[in-house]
Amino acid sequence: MKDNARKSWSKRTRAVHSGTRRSQYGELSEAMFLTQGFVYDSAEAAEARFIEAGPDEFIYARYGNPTVAMFEDRIAALEGAEAAFATASGMAAVNGALVSMLRAGDHVVSSRALFGSCLYILEDVLTRYGVEVTFVDGTDLDAWRAAMRPDTKAVFFESLSNPTLEMIDIEAVSAIAHEVGATVICDNVFSTPVFGDAIGQGADVVVYSATKHIDGQGRCLGGVILGTEQFIRKTVEPYLKHTGGAMSPFNAWVMLKSLETVDLRCRAQAASAQAIAEALEGAAGLTRVIYPGLASHPQHDLARRQLEEPGTVIALEVAGGQAAAFRVLNALEIIKISNNLGDAKSIVTHPTTTTHQRLTDEQRAELGITPGLIRLSVGLEDPADLIADLKGALALA
Ligand SMILES: *Cc1c(COP(=O)(O)O)cnc(C)c1O
Repeated sequence: MKDNARKSWSKRTRAVHSGTRRSQYGELSEAMFLTQGFVYDSAEAAEARFIEAGPDEFIYARYGNPTVAMFEDRIAALEGAEAAFATASGMAAVNGALVSMLRAGDHVVSSRALFGSCLYILEDVLTRYGVEVTFVDGTDLDAWRAAMRPDTKAVFFESLSNPTLEMIDIEAVSAIAHEVGATVICDNVFSTPVFGDAIGQGADVVVYSATKHIDGQGRCLGGVILGTEQFIRKTVEPYLKHTGGAMSPFNAWVMLKSLETVDLRCRAQAASAQAIAEALEGAAGLTRVIYPGLASHPQHDLARRQLEEPGTVIALEVAGGQAAAFRVLNALEIIKISNNLGDAKSIVTHPTTTTHQRLTDEQRAELGITPGLIRLSVGLEDPADLIADLKGALALA
């Protein structure tokens, strides 16, 4: 029995109810169907299902599973997408969205400010199979225009980049891409499923690492690709179901239940991020505070237009380079040194020596990733405690 969630319901309500499938027991909390396979009533039923499976008919967990389907339907309802395919990780989603639709000879345009693993797929993997990739400064609309060609099949960007929080104008870039018929694929992790409306603003495909805000409590890896029914069923699904990138039912159950609180968590984290950014801007020991919610952010107006709230991540540049940045990290008491983000626990990362270590000095300089830069993912702690922790660490450093 599937819950008949309505389109008119607000995002918060959809995040609690959409996609629920109840078994014959009428359980209130969604069941975890920890099963690889499914039993058929007869040989004829098995044959029929392999010819065409209905929406509540499953064959094998690599193709689909009831708990995974609940997560897919719920996140699709939340995002306003026709369909979704859940994956084992965010990178399986990025790889699946790109590789499933591209072939040798195709051209892709991508913004340069990318998460290291995304850069690896575009720079190393796709090119190995004969796909040509052009990288542009994602904030420069003329650069996007100049890079488009008649054979451009896909456009890829992170709507809010990691770790320097550059924003891509989704509406403008999508309009440019659609002029040549390219599919717009938006990695929307930093915008969260709560604050953005990437599909409404023109993106064709939205990708999330569910590992981040969707789980939000640091437990499971996961990802999801959202798009039209046609794109998900005819392009993404055949590729992923045969190449093994499926999400596990256990992880899907964790992600599904986490969607019930994702709105509350993201809003609380963004409110704290705004308070922390305001408290730290101009503080002694810091040369820059980067947060799209600050008037000093070069794309503050775009952030207000494109996002309900400007995200949960702040970038801080410490005066005194890497040594000073390390002293700040080591002096923090509440905020943990780790490379995840979107978690209930506040987390700091030093991108130069960890997440962006693979890049050359020139590449990092071009992206604004300086040795003094720290990425702060704001969690659910009391923001006053976080501000005190950060100010204390800055004073010691
Ligand atoms: C973390 C992240 C990914 C990858 O997600 P995983 O779940 O770690 O595979 C992709 N894109 C962005 C922007 C990310 O922050």
